[in-house]
Amino acid sequence: MRAGILTVGDELLAGDTVDTNATWLAERLTDRGVTVERISTVPDRTEAIAELVAEYSDRYDVVIVTGGLGPTHDDVTMDGVAAAFGRELRTDEQALEWLEADGYSRGDLATGTADLPEGSDPLHNEAGVAPGCILENVYVFPGVPDEMKAMFESVADRFAGTIRHVEHVTIDEAESALIERFAQLREQFGVKVGSYPGETVRVKIEHEDESVVREAAAWLEANAVVS
Ligand code: ATP
Ligand code: MG
Repeated sequence: MRAGILTVGDELLAGDTVDTNATWLAERLTDRGVTVERISTVPDRTEAIAELVAEYSDRYDVVIVTGGLGPTHDDVTMDGVAAAFGRELRTDEQALEWLEADGYSRGDLATGTADLPEGSDPLHNEAGVAPGCILENVYVFPGVPDEMKAMFESVADRFAGTIRHVEHVTIDEAESALIERFAQLREQFGVKVGSYPGETVRVKIEHEDESVVREAAAWLEANAVVS
């Protein structure tokens, strides 16, 4: 399964808020064997959201959108998602019932709180107010990290793929000295190799078969040049 992640919010683009949602989602999806192909951030503008939701929905098996829910003027994510599919927003009865069960009376809720794209399935916000939804292959979650996480977990079993095993090996050599060994790792073991230099080089070795990852990591460690 291939996924795209879209985070929505002017505050993310301005650098006011660190996009921890994208990182958290990428990690959880990867853990479940889903390949995250792309992460983008879009402003709180209906057309910008609609354009990228439509593109991602075509391109990937699933799309996760977070942020910009709720009834305030800058929360336009549901409008954008609806527009991506040529739908209107309408008040969702199920979402209203959940809100009432959570202690909010219909009269007190701001207009639009339970408005979702026509034909979408509502998602209960167990940690907050604004409901999310599923429309075709697009999952819309709130921006508040705790609310987003709770909603993700409520549907996590829908996101699945081939789990890849990973081992990290730390090598105290220059990255340029490792080029030949990386080539050999890939040819001999068929593993995916990631190289992340810092003070030392952190090498990430990945494969579907755990024993192959272990053998490749052991080979790399055995062939390290100790200074
Ligand atoms: P609500 O459930 O309250 O309606 P919302 O979907 O409207 O939430 P936003 O208004 O976009 O969410 O953001 C709410 C809070 O969550 C803000 O403080 C915002 O900075 C934070 N937030 C939004 N998106 C992210 C993100 N991608 N990573 C980390 N924090 C985020
Ligand atoms: Mg916002």
